Amino acid sequence: MNVADDKTIVREYFNSTGFDRWKRIYGDGEVNKVQLDIRNGHQQTVDSVIGWLKDDGNLAELSICDAGCGVGSLSIPLATEGAKLYASDISEKMVEEGKQRALETLGNTENPTFAVQDLESLSGSYHTVICLDVLIHYPQEKADEMISHLCSLAQSRIILSFAPKTCALALLKKIGSFFPGPSKTTRAYLHREADVIKILESNGFAIQRKAFTKTRFYFSRILEATRT
Ligand code: SAM
Repeated sequence: MNVADDKTIVREYFNSTGFDRWKRIYGDGEVNKVQLDIRNGHQQTVDSVIGWLKDDGNLAELSICDAGCGVGSLSIPLATEGAKLYASDISEKMVEEGKQRALETLGNTENPTFAVQDLESLSGSYHTVICLDVLIHYPQEKADEMISHLCSLAQSRIILSFAPKTCALALLKKIGSFFPGPSKTTRAYLHREADVIKILESNGFAIQRKAFTKTRFYFSRILEATRT
């Protein structure tokens, strides 16, 4: 399978069965046990990032690009804290849901600014660029290109999360639960932390903070890197 195929499949997945599944996981309605575990794990990842940003005490001054924003699980709380958010996603359906949730939570459609856009075509300049749980859909070579592009948009800082390769066995066992049914063809790629750090460093960034979320069915390494 080539890279273009990965992207097309991912887009179609998150505009169809993937949308229905992840909208539920990233919501507060009833879900099955596996989905509840993934919901809780993902929430921990979101909370870790929000915790870091809040600790810095300057959220209201920041412009933030949330690349692959999904339904706005991170963008909406960050906008609530006063940051200026540009939230984009390759999936029209996820973006529509994000807009709806932002309207319900914040009562406006101005911040976050939502857009249907793949992260490879993003332009502009932001204090902080964040990309959570997106790289899992791409092989390392493609992830390297994506990370380099995201670095080029970041004035000061980049925050990424990915499924680390060390948990490969555990994760691979569970992979069926990540992509059930007809969409099983959607692959989950694991990334070596050392590879991700190498590409960040080659773009002029140095690691500042790390976190790791692990539940039964969800694993995510989070890295914060700043320009040296
Ligand atoms: N970052 C969000 C979060 O943590 O709540 C969503 C994570 S969800 C597992 C992955 C998201 O990445 C989906 O909404 C999908 O549409 C989006 N995505 C996948 N490939 C993308 C790409 N090349 N550019 C932009 N978004 C992408």
